[in-house]
Parts: sequence; structure tokens; C-alpha cells
Amino acid sequence: MTDVAPALTETIERTLILVKPDGVRRGLSGEVLRRVEAKGYTLAAVRLLDATPELLAAHYAEHEGKPFYQPLVDFMLSGKVLAVVAEGQGVIPGFRSLAGATNPTEALPGTIRGDLGRDWGLKVQQNLVHGSDSPESAAREVALWFPELG
Ligand code: UDP
Repeated sequence: MTDVAPALTETIERTLILVKPDGVRRGLSGEVLRRVEAKGYTLAAVRLLDATPELLAAHYAEHEGKPFYQPLVDFMLSGKVLAVVAEGQGVIPGFRSLAGATNPTEALPGTIRGDLGRDWGLKVQQNLVHGSDSPESAAREVALWFPELG
């Protein structure tokens, strides 16, 4: 049997994952968590919550002023969000690979967005999940969604 125990030298990274309101509404939270765990990452924290305009303004600060910004915030306020901190070597780019391309139509089969998402013809891409894009973003976003961990 293959030894899947992490090496003692493994550097633990953390990323912030969100199952967006479309994913929670469609009952896909468990499927996203299953894929994260099946990849070998560890769940460090999970919270189902209603986001607030203040939290989303901070989370999406880099997108303020873009045409999709307000529709994106409205979408993120349209239902519950599952916030997750996942840990493991390479988890930041690793979850981005699991998630797939931003546009679900372009996301490859095998990815969360490619397998489970589609284009709904709306102003904002309802693409099921968010994942931090860098160590700096991950630290900032974990502190926003899990102040007790930051
Ligand atoms: N988004 C959108 N239209 C765009 C670009 C982005 O609706 O043209 C939304 C989409 O939900 C995306 C989020 O804004 O996930 C953040 O955009 P980003 O470029 O950071 O994509 P991601 O890192 O989530 O793939």
C-alpha cells in the first residue's frame, strides 16, 4: 500500500476557500469538501455564514470599480456562503487547479467549475467557488473570514 503520510519536512500552507451561494444553494458544499479532502488536503476550519457588505468589500477590494463588482457583491449576498480554511503543501495553487478557470464554460472537465458549473447568461459568473490566489491573499482572506485564526 502506498504511504500517504505527509513527509516530516512538509511546509504547511493555508488557503481560503469559499463555496459561493450558487454552490450552497445547489447542495454542492459536500462535493467541494470531498474533492479538497480527496486531494489530500486537510480541513482546518469550516463556517457557514451570511456574508456582509463590509466583509465582501474587504474581500473583493482589488475588484472595486470593475463592471462586475456590484453584481458580484450582490450575488455573494444572495445566500449562505461556506468558508473553509484548507491546509497542505501547495494548497494555494493546488485548489486553484481543482477549481478550474474563472469562466465555467472554459473550465476543463475534471475541475469543480468544469464538472459542476455552467454559464447562466448573467452579468456575474456564478462559478461555485473562490480560492486564494497567493500566500499574501490567503493570509489576508483567512484573517477576514476567520478573525480568530488570523
Ligand atoms: N467575475 C465575473 N466576471 C468577470 C471576472 C470575474 O463575474 O469578468 C467574478 C467571478 O465570480 C470570479 C470573481 O469575480 O470568481 C473574482 O474574479 P477573479 O478574477 O479573482 O477570478 P477567480 O480568482 O475567482 O477565478
